[in-house]
Parts: sequence; C-alpha cells; structure tokens
Amino acid sequence: MIPGIGPPGATALLSSEPMAEQSSPLAWADVAALLRRRHLRLTPQRRAVVGALAEFEGHVTAAQLVERCLEKDPGFVPSTVYRTLDVLEGLGLITHIHDAEGREQYQPAAEAPHAHLICRECGATWEIGSDELGDFLPLLHRRHGFDVDLSHLAIFGRCEDCSRP
Ligand SMILES: [Zn+2]
Ligand SMILES: [Zn+2]
Ligand SMILES: [Zn+2]
Repeated sequence: MIPGIGPPGATALLSSEPMAEQSSPLAWADVAALLRRRHLRLTPQRRAVVGALAEFEGHVTAAQLVERCLEKDPGFVPSTVYRTLDVLEGLGLITHIHDAEGREQYQPAAEAPHAHLICRECGATWEIGSDELGDFLPLLHRRHGFDVDLSHLAIFGRCEDCSRP
C-alpha cells in the first residue's frame, strides 16, 4: 500500500476491492522481452525503474519511484524515471491517472479496467469497476459516440470520512 492512498478499511465504505489486495497481473520479468522486441534496451537504469515499479502495489508517482531508485543507487539519474515511464506507457504497459494535485499516478495497464474516486480533502483513492458506473459509459456512447478511457477517469469529491461533521 502506498502511503496516502486508500486508508485501511476505507474500501469497506464502497463496494470496490482494496487496492493492496489487487495483484498485478503484469509480469515485470516480461518487460525486458517486450522492450527488446521493440528494439529498446533494458539498460541498468531502466531495469532499476521497472524493479521499483514492481515493488509498489496499486498506484505510484514518479517522485516515489525516484526516491526508491535513489535509495538503492545514490548515483541514479532521476530523469531516467520520467523517460522510462514514457517508454512503458508508450508500449501500453502502464497507464496513469491524476491525483487531486494533478500529479500523475501510474499503474500496470494489465489491471482490470477501472476508474477512480479521489477525495479532494484527504487524497484517498478508491478503484471502481465499470459496473459501478451503471449506464453512464453506454449513455455517453449513445448520445455522443464517445468512448471513455476508463483507466484515465478520476472522479473527484469528498469521501465518507471527510464528510463526517
Ligand atoms: Zn493524464
Ligand atoms: Zn477523504
Ligand atoms: Zn487504479
């Protein structure tokens, strides 16, 4: 569990799965093979970023990855994180959403497609499946011919805890 995301027990408020219990179906060991197939090398620095990504459950920010890589290798070049995230996202291996401050949070793309509820007050995040959006997505498609990128969808508001007087 990433600090600041999904307070313990908070998921009981909503019918979504606790994020920490979601396994990451993306086999990070396969990333090297995928990069090679696209003629990209898994350099030691890129490998460090992929390794750090694999250690986090749920969502992770670039800053958290930089911190983790620097812990392991004080000579690590922080910009490698941003470039590697771009490469991995370009390959469709990861997706991102934005937190209440607009910062990107990354997650493995192979997770079941889901949207996010983000509390503006405490920053807690919950994942919701398309089933919880009811007819919303089909309605947008019918009315506007619009296909929603569910993995980039974040709904901001106030959580039950923060709503208590
Ligand atoms: Zn974005
Ligand atoms: Zn809250
Ligand atoms: Zn998510």
